[in-house]
Amino acid sequence: MSSQPTDPVPERSNDAAPDTTNLDFIRQIVAEDIARGTHAGRVHTRFPPEPNGYLHIGHAKSILLNYGIAQEFGGKFNLRFDDTNPEKEETEYVESIKRDTRWLGADWQEREYYASDYFDQLYEWAQYLIREGKAYVCSLDDKQIREWRGTVTSPGRLSPDRDRAAEESLTLLEQMKNGEFPDGTYTLRAKIDMTHPNMKMRDPLIYRIKRLPHHRTGDAWHIYPLYDFAHGQSDAIEEITHSICTLEFDVNRPLYDWFIDNLPVAHRPRQYEFARLNLTHTVLSKRKLLQLVEQKHVTGWDDPRMPTISALRRRGYTATALQTFCERIGVAKRDSTVDLALLEWAIRDELNLRANRVMAVLRPLKVVITNYPEDQEELIEAVNNPEDESAGTRQVPFSRELWVEREDFREEAPRKWFRFAPGREVRLKHAYFVTLQEVVKDDRGEVTELRCVYDAASRGGQSPDGRKVRGTLHWVSARHAVDAEIRLYDHLFATPTPDAGDDFIANLNPDSLEVLAGCKLEPSLASAQAGDRFQFMRQGYFCVDSVDTAPDRLVFNRTVTLKDSWTKIEAKAKK
Ligand code: ATP
Ligand code: MG
Repeated sequence: MSSQPTDPVPERSNDAAPDTTNLDFIRQIVAEDIARGTHAGRVHTRFPPEPNGYLHIGHAKSILLNYGIAQEFGGKFNLRFDDTNPEKEETEYVESIKRDTRWLGADWQEREYYASDYFDQLYEWAQYLIREGKAYVCSLDDKQIREWRGTVTSPGRLSPDRDRAAEESLTLLEQMKNGEFPDGTYTLRAKIDMTHPNMKMRDPLIYRIKRLPHHRTGDAWHIYPLYDFAHGQSDAIEEITHSICTLEFDVNRPLYDWFIDNLPVAHRPRQYEFARLNLTHTVLSKRKLLQLVEQKHVTGWDDPRMPTISALRRRGYTATALQTFCERIGVAKRDSTVDLALLEWAIRDELNLRANRVMAVLRPLKVVITNYPEDQEELIEAVNNPEDESAGTRQVPFSRELWVEREDFREEAPRKWFRFAPGREVRLKHAYFVTLQEVVKDDRGEVTELRCVYDAASRGGQSPDGRKVRGTLHWVSARHAVDAEIRLYDHLFATPTPDAGDDFIANLNPDSLEVLAGCKLEPSLASAQAGDRFQFMRQGYFCVDSVDTAPDRLVFNRTVTLKDSWTKIEAKAKK
């Protein structure tokens, strides 16, 4: 399967209409805007995260869409922190967002902005609306505001303060700003329409009092703007042309436009909505991910079972695999849920080409080759990657005592068992044919050792006389083995739609993590560095853990198994 972009950018010329048939609907809009000369043919997008958590794979979709459009159409891309709520925002999140966005390959150059940079301008615009008779300071409390707003089927009631004189509202707003009133006593509201069918238009809040320090502005402000009063205005200030967000914001669009229409802005941005990414077996809401972290269901935001970008990176995902995944899912107008198997396919497909094959025994069982001299050892040449000749070969030591996979042995084996069983012959990968002669057990009947003989004439795993050996097993020389801890992961949630019920926590998979200590690796892995990726033959793709690996401790995460369930799902869907 190809991992090339599926949306080639058509060549454009000034006199012909662009061919946009291969583009997703957002790119079509952008291409048409350029052709028409909207925004003087300029393209400028942004990614506007709220720094209240780590980015997840859904954000990756948004970043790659916004950055991709800027790149493909010769435009610019901003990173803007939507930091208008000091309650939940932290510098740690800002730093992680920058790290993850950069790692994905999205380059905002010097354009790192913060909504908080615009607090002065936003405040002036709020004063402007008051003077224009389009905003007022309201003394209803939270609960009253909610009740007086009405419902979708019944109109709202007018605030008693709706006709407050502009001078009075201006003074009150100033006092709110200076921290003279407790939280919740006043709000600033836009004066729009309390009977509007769109609830967002029923005199929405502009500012609320929050006497809290802000991670950037410190104690300068005691009021903070609401999302709707900050977002479009920030877009206008930054001269964003296409403000791309997820579908749930379509109800905010009339308000977005109302503020832009009623403020003296120099530039008019437009908002477009696309379907957010939903993934099976996954929750993609920062609030829920925070809950998993705080309640210690996972070890942190970067626990390799999390759908965050930092967790996927730690687990062994590459930025290019996430790009491939996002290209494959495309950009749609309607919500849907993507199978997690597609994400796994993307990394497996890439690592198949890139990762060197090595031998690692996860659950070791000792093998002794009784006819191989005690003090002898030899180096056997092994191909690093059959998919990539340039990866070359390496030397793997072989000796009398080996580790093999405990599950590759069965005392009572069916006829078609091609691994270790009494009397049967198997091939040790790259090495020799060996035949199991004796099974050694301890007092409790536990198998502790397999005693085998080898055929010296089968060196390199080649049959010396045409006799066939079906099973090829991986192994590690005991004398040379490197010890490691290996972590195997399963879905964090047992059900495909963990969000469906009232309590997503109840859907956690109790078996999502299996830790294997005392795994035995071939010695070439002694020098593996954090982030290095390998295929452990027959076991999957693995990545050196970047957090828990230390000079005396090697920890691997299984990125993904070798079993491709996506291709099957896809084939079934095509039938
Ligand atoms: P969450 O719902 O996970 O808490 P959010 O929308 O509150 O996310 P923001 O920091 O406000 O998080 O999001 C930044 C940008 O990422 C927004 O433009 C938002 O539309 C987009 N985004 C968030 N979640 C997804 C998703 N699942 N798929 C695509 N884009 C997303
Ligand atoms: Mg949000």
